[in-house]
Amino acid sequence: MHLQPQIESKEKRIRGFEALLRWNNARLGKVGPGEFILIAEQSGLIKQIDEWVMEHAFVEIQKINEIFNTEFLISINVSAAQIQRIDFADKVIALMEKWGMKGQLVELEITELSILDIMDNVTRNINKLREKQVKIALDDFGTGYSSINHLSEIHVDTIKIDRSLMNNIDNSQRKWIIVKNLYNISRQLQYDVVLEGVETESQISFLKQLREVYIQGYYYCKPQPIEELIAFIRKWQQETNEQV
Ligand code: C2E
Ligand code: CA
Ligand code: CA
Repeated sequence: MHLQPQIESKEKRIRGFEALLRWNNARLGKVGPGEFILIAEQSGLIKQIDEWVMEHAFVEIQKINEIFNTEFLISINVSAAQIQRIDFADKVIALMEKWGMKGQLVELEITELSILDIMDNVTRNINKLREKQVKIALDDFGTGYSSINHLSEIHVDTIKIDRSLMNNIDNSQRKWIIVKNLYNISRQLQYDVVLEGVETESQISFLKQLREVYIQGYYYCKPQPIEELIAFIRKWQQETNEQV
């Protein structure tokens, strides 16, 4: 499991981290989740994988929060098949209790694909989790089946604008207009906004025009194994403190 920070664009405060899985296989080498998550979903192994990730993510974030004496969030990807399970919310809540994890420090990232089917279970799970202060993030917003209408139908806490909209934003007036207005809609609905896949200084200088936004991208930090991430946070906090 690697973690990638989400950083507030003005004060440079770290909001939290997204857990991203990597598979080190003796024969195949490093395999990215883009390759194995789909196969895991098709074979049913995703259930065990998602549970493993959640448990590890809880343990690791608590370790990090203890070291830095703070309350960073942990964001965890949940595949469509999981959020549709009738007992999904109960399982998450049981794991939170097992590890003494506060709901407000847990964010679950779902894609809109997962909301399309079996709406009932999904809504029930989301409501149950939000009662425990768990945050729900809508991932990859702006791609595939994204529908503005969903924003009025389900209650989420965070919108993650997809990296395809960040790509070339510094040279595309059209993309900038779309992102700026998606941002405005999201903020008026009181969602946190996370921008994914920000890679360059030039993109950052554009995005700084948005008042309150979180940046997750290679520009600040690639997904890192825990030890490297702890070193990153140390350095980051020193540097931002010096700037104040
Ligand atoms: P995602 O949830 O959209 O995750 C963000 C992806 O963007 C990650 O790819 C991350 O490494 C990459 N990324 C972050 N910043 C940048 C950037 O500045 N530029 C570029 N080009 N890419 C950036 P990754 O780690 O390969 O994960 C791919 C997808 O696999 C994820 O997309 C997510 O849908 C899925 N995934 C990863 N870990 C898990 C997991 O534990 N459980 C489940 N169910 N799915 C996972
Ligand atoms: Ca995600
Ligand atoms: Ca995403």
